[in-house]
Amino acid sequence: MWTYICVQTYGKYLGFWVGPGSTDHIWTKPLHKYLQRAKEWASLNLGMFFNLLAYKTFISSVLSFTMQLAEDPSTLLDYSMTALRLLLAGPGNWITIADASHLKSAFCFPIEFTPLQSLSLAIKARILATIAPDASIKARELEHALITYGRRTFPTWHQNCFFTTLDRCRSTLQEKDITSSTVKACMKHTGNLSFQNVARQMITSRYGVCYYSESRVRQKLVCWKLSGIPGLQERRIIGNMRLLADHAPPRVQAVYFKAVWNGWVTDCRMRTLLTQKGKSVRPCVLRCGLGSDSLQHYAVCNVFWDSLVSLLQISTGCRSRDFFLLAADGMSKELKLQLAGAIYALHRGVQVLRHADCGCQLNPRALLQCWVKKCGIRLVNKHTNKQDRTLSITF
Ligand SMILES: [Zn+2]
Repeated sequence: MWTYICVQTYGKYLGFWVGPGSTDHIWTKPLHKYLQRAKEWASLNLGMFFNLLAYKTFISSVLSFTMQLAEDPSTLLDYSMTALRLLLAGPGNWITIADASHLKSAFCFPIEFTPLQSLSLAIKARILATIAPDASIKARELEHALITYGRRTFPTWHQNCFFTTLDRCRSTLQEKDITSSTVKACMKHTGNLSFQNVARQMITSRYGVCYYSESRVRQKLVCWKLSGIPGLQERRIIGNMRLLADHAPPRVQAVYFKAVWNGWVTDCRMRTLLTQKGKSVRPCVLRCGLGSDSLQHYAVCNVFWDSLVSLLQISTGCRSRDFFLLAADGMSKELKLQLAGAIYALHRGVQVLRHADCGCQLNPRALLQCWVKKCGIRLVNKHTNKQDRTLSITF
């Protein structure tokens, strides 16, 4: 009779898996759901800004309930990397987690990727401050009981007890002077930010690896072979990102960032995949007849620059990679914004033509001129809502 009774070493209580066998199961469903949501949002092709917004609101939040009490799994970073690859899709390893986590702080993008490790620590800091301030006492009591009553079975279960996990988190945070009282003291100077958000900011600033934005831009500019002075170019490019943050929508910022990072999907960047499939790199999709499907060619493509000359009254002498990346000498703000709109139009036009059927003869110049008018660059500063009187742009 008892043969058919199933006995399992774990069970769900108030949403958490508890019991000696719970360690192997506590993260299975949340991590599966996390990846599933990342795939679903990525399949909508919403672009960098909306994908990062969806990540913050709907994707990373599925882990936050379990993160309150459970120790982080060893695979957390791998899952985070997979989600990043899905949401910020592009050729090869075009962007790293460090780049994505500094999009706002270093490059003025409206939003950035939230690292899961800092989120987990901040959530546990909130639990320690609100629900379990006595976690250390309970953890010591458990430790004492283990010593008093000798050898016990299920040592992993005891070592990963919720109170022990919280106590470990408290010790980790105390090393960098992040406690309930220091976070609350910091909250007085940060306006309406919640305890968890302030704790996360403190954790990111004190635990995060130093990110050198200029050095990172310098690495990315190597493949562009620009003619300007190193050092000056990196500062100009970071300054351009600030200018675009003031006057351009996130889609234009994202396209410019992806251009500097060499993250456009073109046949030259996907060469390894094409070779495996026995295909070769196609010629320039703007049909200039002189180059291949690569970003470095589009930066100086005849068709692109001829369209600009007629539409934006830009001199033909501007045609160079330095001008394309808005890093040439003497460029005015107007010219930079006009070219940023043109880079956005080029990206949209190239992607439409790359995915158009072979029989479909779309006119590349008409496509570029259509998209450049839809780039959404405004003379009004997005942050101050005041018109920049020094600018007068026409598309
Ligand atoms: Zn071309």
